[in-house]
Amino acid sequence: MIEYLPLKKITEKYASEIHEAVNRVVDSGWYLQGREVEAFEQEFSQYLGVPHCVSCGNGLDALTLIIRAFKAMGIMQEGDEIIVPANTYIASILSITENGLIPILVEPEEDTYEIDSSLIEQHITARTKAIMIVHLYGRNAYTPKIGELCNKYNLKLIEDCAQAHGLRRVQGSKVQGGVYQAYSFYPTKNLGALGDAGTVATDDKELADKVRALGNYGSGKKYVFDYQGRNSRIDEIQAAVLRVKLQHLDEDNAIRRKIADYYYQNISNPHVRLPKYTEENVYHVFPVAIDNRDAAQVCLKEQGIETLIHYPIPPHRQKCWQDSAMESYINEKMHLPITDRMAQQELSLPLSQVLTFDDVEYIVEKVNGIM
Ligand SMILES: *Cc1c(COP(=O)(O)O)cnc(C)c1O
Repeated sequence: MIEYLPLKKITEKYASEIHEAVNRVVDSGWYLQGREVEAFEQEFSQYLGVPHCVSCGNGLDALTLIIRAFKAMGIMQEGDEIIVPANTYIASILSITENGLIPILVEPEEDTYEIDSSLIEQHITARTKAIMIVHLYGRNAYTPKIGELCNKYNLKLIEDCAQAHGLRRVQGSKVQGGVYQAYSFYPTKNLGALGDAGTVATDDKELADKVRALGNYGSGKKYVFDYQGRNSRIDEIQAAVLRVKLQHLDEDNAIRRKIADYYYQNISNPHVRLPKYTEENVYHVFPVAIDNRDAAQVCLKEQGIETLIHYPIPPHRQKCWQDSAMESYINEKMHLPITDRMAQQELSLPLSQVLTFDDVEYIVEKVNGIM
């Protein structure tokens, strides 16, 4: 069986460095808020070219803490609206609703899977405070149009970068409101820890300080609590592992790109629609659209190829909003035909830095055989 994402092999690729890093922490006697976290924050900040990185427990916390910090700064309040793509992973939306803000779902473009910039402006109201873009599947979701709208309506641009480690976008865009990025280091991400971890990256010193305090029980100074915060941290062990893997991120992303290029050049089945090609892509997921998706998935499985679906039930059709304050804003009656269609047609092909070219050739051959 060709596994969709063989995590064991991914860890084994850098096993000796990872073991050395883990042992270093075990032997140090210091397990939280120490040198490894500090060093990782510096190294990741340098890698991104964004001045402040504040680590936290996971990607959902990173997003949630950005919005909480905006609330603490008086920039947002409960009942305000944030525009977000309708086809994102649920965490993007939960970070908004958890803060008592309202997610305004906007349809993606069919060929890029990213939020459709041309549909955003009609959803902007006096209560809109931010546009949250999600660099879904590793593609760049930012467009100059989005930057223009942020500047014109004085909106914050929040970026869900959980699927986009190594995507070089920041230099290219100039949004006056600043850079607010949330990263997840969940094990399956392009830069993955061996457990949960996340980071906020920003050029806004005030927000960085607030996020740090909010993730530390609301305390900026020992035993002084300015906010009702939470506890959200990266372990020293995870930070040490991430420092190793960060050094190999570009190299791993280059392998992903090579595999994706091969898919683009060799998948020629008219039933299998490939996403629009873009230079800026770290290929977290390689999505294709197939009318008869479920049958295709079974057929590939029978031939030894494991695929996944990102995501089978779109957020607006989930039960979690029922009987909540959010039900009137997000519910299954929403007219989101593109999002619905994607949930029925999307299939993610195996793609990782440890997939062999023999496997890639085999996958292409079988995908081209789908009827
Ligand atoms: C993984 C993911 C998250 C959440 O990250 P966790 O670390 O699992 O909390 C948020 N948004 C997107 C788009 C993701 O893929």
